[in-house]
Amino acid sequence: MRIIWLDLNCSYAHSSLALPALHAQVMHRADVEWEVVRTTTNESVGTAVEAIYAHRPDVVAATAWLFTHEHLLHIVARVKALLPQTVVILGGPEFLGDNGEYLKVHREVDCVLRGEGEESFPLWLDVWNVPEAWTAIPGLCYIYKDVYHDQGLSHVVDFTSLKAPEESTLFTWGKPFVQVETTRGCFNTCAFCVSGVGDPIRMLPLEDIRRRLHRIRERGIRDVRVLDRTFNYHPRHAIELLRLFEEFHPQLRFHLEVHPALLPQSVREVLSGMPHGLLHLEAGIQSLRQEVLDKSQRKGSLGDALDGLCFLCALPNLVTHADLIAGLPLYTLAQIYEDIRTLATYQAGEIQLESLKLLPGTVMRRDAAKLGIRYSPLPPYEVLETDFITCAELQEARRLSRLLDAYYNTEAWQGMTRRLILEEGDFLRRFLHHLTEHNYIDQPMSLERRGELLYLFCREHYPSYVTDVTVAWIEAGMSLKKRPAEGVRTKHIYPSEEWIVVYGEYAETYRLCFLPADDEDHGYWFGYDTSTQCTVPVFKAVWR
Ligand code: SF4
Repeated sequence: MRIIWLDLNCSYAHSSLALPALHAQVMHRADVEWEVVRTTTNESVGTAVEAIYAHRPDVVAATAWLFTHEHLLHIVARVKALLPQTVVILGGPEFLGDNGEYLKVHREVDCVLRGEGEESFPLWLDVWNVPEAWTAIPGLCYIYKDVYHDQGLSHVVDFTSLKAPEESTLFTWGKPFVQVETTRGCFNTCAFCVSGVGDPIRMLPLEDIRRRLHRIRERGIRDVRVLDRTFNYHPRHAIELLRLFEEFHPQLRFHLEVHPALLPQSVREVLSGMPHGLLHLEAGIQSLRQEVLDKSQRKGSLGDALDGLCFLCALPNLVTHADLIAGLPLYTLAQIYEDIRTLATYQAGEIQLESLKLLPGTVMRRDAAKLGIRYSPLPPYEVLETDFITCAELQEARRLSRLLDAYYNTEAWQGMTRRLILEEGDFLRRFLHHLTEHNYIDQPMSLERRGELLYLFCREHYPSYVTDVTVAWIEAGMSLKKRPAEGVRTKHIYPSEEWIVVYGEYAETYRLCFLPADDEDHGYWFGYDTSTQCTVPVFKAVWR
């Protein structure tokens, strides 16, 4: 039997873990021949169809995801038209809900697998061409002889016996990072999340994880994204893992999701002692309002979460990102602005503002009407309006998210943006309005362009910050010929006896520039090392 795995992603920077995760369980089987067709949503449907058709497969398999689903159907429908005998099986988070209606509409799809596939999919491969026998496959949904069959939700029973995705010959080693799952399932019950439906928690033995990390390191990979839904649910296990990760410093870096409310003293102590740069944390916070979290059925006290977040953000040895979700029930736009301000006070390393999407199979999607939520019936199922935030306000939140990414979440502009957010209560709204009014916000903007827009905006509305924006511009290594550096003097600049060195050690070979801060020769000196091509100053001094 020949199976084509259609590996469809939004870009080649991403790769689906489902392919190697499933293939690793069955690659020893001589009766199944695997081929992979890789494509992205930016590429031609016709080219993917041509590649699949050339193989004349018995089975086409793929996973659907919010942002790939529509493109996937365009490919699959054409393949089925060309090869009606080919069996199409799909899986992924898009099929956690009601699959009956879906299969009635999309007759090009023969069956879908709901839930985890590593145990179910090999069983299905045994009977792929015998639909009468599909009733034995957990999680499989299909229409056979006009009758819809729904075999519930598939859970992997023996998680520890699964072969690791990296064992598959189809594992993609060419990406800058790999994804690793050390536990599966989540203790929490967030009504908007596909993991909040009571998945049992299963963990891998530490020795297995160590072996896998050794292999990953040997392959020269630098970044490991740990997919555990809540890494620190079991404090003892979290501490063991952190100690394990430390063994791989400095070759590996780990990206983890933590619940900031679950940080007992023992975990805090270990986190405080982790080497610099080893950990990059995503702290799921979603909203800083208890009533919003309660309505979203998220367990954990907000007070504990804020305390934990404050602790994480203050640690100098790791980077912590925090996320908020616009569109949650009871959450207003005014509260979102306030919460961003609070997160900026905590010095969050990044602030992500997501738009809520009502995914199939989630409690919130089921109860949307009761909760006063209107959402898109088409992927990505984004919330369009709630009883607490209007359609226009949700669009403002989307643009605000872009502003945060362009400024607060960008190293060069973070310090300046944070100060403006904290010191000028109306800055965020006014700057967003300005970027929206001039149609900048939805366009891609280079680092320099962003700096230039911030500079011009401050020059007009917050002139006391202009010098500091220029300092940030210079320190980010931007051109001294552009507008934000219009006040900078580059000719005949000499060391001053009165300057106070901020960083670096002055050398006579350095090229100096001077940024006046007033009319009395106070200001900043920056020194550039002319022996390198580096545009970032290596020396800074100030006289105030
Ligand atoms: S949002 Fe996070 S904590 Fe909540 S159910 Fe999903 S994975 Fe678990």
